[in-house]
Amino acid sequence: MDGTNTDPDGLPAIWTVRVRLPLPVDADYDYLVPSDPTDPTASASVPARAVPGPGAFVEVPLGTGVRIGIVWGPGSDGVERAKLRPILRVLPAPPVPEAVRRFVDWVARYTVSPPGMVARMVAPVPGALEAPAPQPGVRRVGPVPDGVRLTPMRERVLRHLADGVPRTLADLKAEIGASAAVVRGLAAAGAVVSSDLPVPPRRFPVDPHGIGPALTADQQDAADALRGAVRRPDYSVHLLDGVTGSGKTEVYFEAIAEAVAAGRQVLVLLPEIALTGQWLGRFGDRFGGAPAAWHSDLTGARRRDTWRAVAAGTAPVVVGARSALFLPFPDLGLIVVDEEHEAAFKQEDGVIYNARDMAVARAHLDAIPIVLASATPSIETVVNVGQDRYRRLALPDRFGGARLPEMAVIDLRATPPETGHFLSRPLLEAVAETLARGEQAMLFLNRRGYAPLAICRACGHRLQCPNCTAWLTVHRLVGRLICHHCDHRDRTPHRCPECGAEDSFAPVGPGVERIAEEADRALPGANWTIVSSDTLHGPKAIATMVEQVQRREIDLLIGTQVLAKGHHFPDLTLVGVVDADLGLGGGDFRAFERTYQLLHQVAGRAGRGQRPGTVLLQSYQPETPVLQALIRGDRDGFLAEQIDDRQRGGWPPFSRLAAIILSGPNREHVLQAAEILARAAPLVDGVQILGPAEPPLAVLRGRHRRRFLIRCGRRFPLQDLIRSWIGPPKLPGSVRVTVDIDPMSFV
Ligand code: ADP
Ligand code: ZN
Repeated sequence: MDGTNTDPDGLPAIWTVRVRLPLPVDADYDYLVPSDPTDPTASASVPARAVPGPGAFVEVPLGTGVRIGIVWGPGSDGVERAKLRPILRVLPAPPVPEAVRRFVDWVARYTVSPPGMVARMVAPVPGALEAPAPQPGVRRVGPVPDGVRLTPMRERVLRHLADGVPRTLADLKAEIGASAAVVRGLAAAGAVVSSDLPVPPRRFPVDPHGIGPALTADQQDAADALRGAVRRPDYSVHLLDGVTGSGKTEVYFEAIAEAVAAGRQVLVLLPEIALTGQWLGRFGDRFGGAPAAWHSDLTGARRRDTWRAVAAGTAPVVVGARSALFLPFPDLGLIVVDEEHEAAFKQEDGVIYNARDMAVARAHLDAIPIVLASATPSIETVVNVGQDRYRRLALPDRFGGARLPEMAVIDLRATPPETGHFLSRPLLEAVAETLARGEQAMLFLNRRGYAPLAICRACGHRLQCPNCTAWLTVHRLVGRLICHHCDHRDRTPHRCPECGAEDSFAPVGPGVERIAEEADRALPGANWTIVSSDTLHGPKAIATMVEQVQRREIDLLIGTQVLAKGHHFPDLTLVGVVDADLGLGGGDFRAFERTYQLLHQVAGRAGRGQRPGTVLLQSYQPETPVLQALIRGDRDGFLAEQIDDRQRGGWPPFSRLAAIILSGPNREHVLQAAEILARAAPLVDGVQILGPAEPPLAVLRGRHRRRFLIRCGRRFPLQDLIRSWIGPPKLPGSVRVTVDIDPMSFV
C-alpha cells in the first residue's frame, strides 16, 4: 500500500482502506482504520493504526447492519475522513491472495458484473472466516509435583511432553497411544496443565511420487510436454485431444504429479461433479489420497474445512465444479479442465461466466499452464489451436488396442417403428442379440419423463406451465406433469380446461420412461433401469447404479445425458440412440457442434472393454453432415466444415457475441425497458445490435423476458460498449438487466 498520499485534513490516506462488499454495486467503500491503543509508537497527536493488509477479511458497518468485506486496497484519495466509519474487526482468515483479487477484477470487467458479486464467490462460506474452536490439549510445566502416582503410561506421557511442546489429546493418542482418561488424570493431579491448541487446517495429503502406469509412446510424449510446461513459470494452454479411452486422464495425472512435487496447488475442473465417483477412485489409486472436492453437495462443516485448507495451502489438489475456480489458492501451479467442450461449464445465473474461459484467463494472469482435455474439443478451442495460441497434444488411439465402436444409422424412413412406438425393429433386434450374447446395452434419449407433451384428444389443447412459455412434461413414475424450467408440478386435469372433455389428455412423443415401457414389452425378461436426473439423485445414487451395472444386475440402461458422461462399463457393447435428429433442428449456430459432441460421447460408452462396440443411430435424416461425420469417424473434416461456416457467417469465435436480457414480473415494464434501451442503443461501425426480440422462453419462472444480441469484431471493446449503453438509462425498477458475454444458450 502506498502511504504517501494524504487526504484533505493532512493525515496519511493509508489510514483508510477501500473495502469490497458482496453487493451488486459498482464501487468499493472506504473505511477508517481504527487506532491501535496497544501500539507503543503511538503519540497523542498521531495514534498508531494496525492497518489490515490487502485481501484481509474485515467486518464493517453498512447502514444499520454489519457486513463482511475484503480489503481491496488503500483508501481512495480525496474522501473526507470525517464521513468515514471505522472497520469493526479483522477476521482471523488468510487474506485473499493478490492473484485472486486480480482475477476477481478481471472477471468482473469481462462479464460486466458488479465486482462485489464476483468477490462474493471467493468466500461463499462465512463460517470459514472465523477461527475454528481450539482443540483441548496439555503441556508440562516444571517438575512433577510430589505424590503423583506414576503408572507406566503416565510416565510415558510425561516423558513425551518433556520437550515442553503442547499436544492435543488426539496427538497423544496417535503418537503414543495414551487415552484421554490417562491425560485427564495427569491434569487433575497437577502434573500437566491444559493448553488449548488452534486447529490446524485440514490436510488432503497426496503423494506425487507414486508410480503411474507405463505410458504408451503417444501418452509419454504428451506427458513429457505437460511436465515440461509445469516446470516453466509461464502461461501456456494445452489441448489434450484424444478419443475416449485414450488415456487423457492418465496423462494429465502426470502433470498433476509434477506440480504437486514442486509444492504447488492444482485445480481440476470437471463439468459434472456428481459423476466423479470413478474419477476419484482412479485419483486415489494414483496418488494414495483423495483430493479436496468442491461442489454444492458438501456439508457446511466440510465446506469450511475445505475452504480453509485451500486458503492455507494444505489442499494440494482440488477437484471441483466451476465455482472452485474462485477458491483462494495461494500458489496455483496448474489448472486442468476436463471435457472442456461441455456447456455445463457455463454458469447461467448470478454472475454469468464460462468457467473454461475464465480458467484460461486465470492461468494467464498467474503465468501458469492450463490443460484442456476432450475427445470432442469445442470449435473455439480448435480455432485457438489453429492460430497457435493453444498447443495440441494428440492421443489418437484407445488404450490397449480397444477399438472405437462401429457407427451406423438406422434409416427410420425405411424401417419406421410401429405407430405410437419409437424403437425400430432393427434396433430392438440388435438389443435382443446383444443381451442374448450376455453383453449389455444402452438406449439413449435426451428427454426426461414419459412424454414431452400432453394434448387433449378432443380439442388439441396442450398443457402449458403457468410460469413459463413451455409445455408440461408427462412424468408417469411420479404421476405428475412437470415443467423442466421451473419445476412446477401438477396432476393431469380430469377435464380439459379448454373444451371440458373428460379424461382426454394423451401423452405425445417419447421420454425415457416411455422407451423403457416399450423396451420392457419388446424384450421380456431384460433387466433394465432408467437413468435420468429424476431417478438418480446425487453422487451416491449414481455410484450405486454404476456398481449394479458392473455386477451385471442391470443389462439394459435407458437414459438421458446423465448416462453419456465418463462411465466405464466394460461389458456394454451396444448403444442405441433413439432420436439422433433431436437437437439438429431450429437451433443456434452451435446446434450441430453440440449434437456431434453429445452423440460422440454417448457412443464412447460402447466397447470400452475387450469386446468391440456398436452404435446405432435412429434417424429420419441420415444424410445430415453431423451423422455422416459420426459414421465416417471424420471429426476433423466435420470441424473444418463447421469452422468454415462460422467464419463465413461471422459467428464466434470469428466475432464476439453478447446477450442482454431484460426480465421482470410486469410485462409492460419489461417492454418499456426494452424501448428505452432500444432508443439508447449505440450506433457504432462494425457493431450489430439485434432486438429487442422475444426469446423462445418469453416467460420464465413468471418473469417476462426480452433480449438484445450484440455482435462485433473480435478486437472490439464489447464490454465498454455495453457498459456505456446500459449504465446510464433509468429503467423501471422491477426490471432486471442481465448481461451474458459469449452466450451459449439462446432460449
Ligand atoms: P480418457 O480420459 O482419454 O477417456 P482414460 O485415462 O480414462 O482415458 O483411460 C481409459 C482406460 O485405459 C482407463 O481404465 C485407464 O486406466 C486405462 N489406461 C490408459 N492408459 C493406460 C496405460 N498407459 N496403462 C494402463 N492403463 C491405461
Ligand atoms: Zn415452468
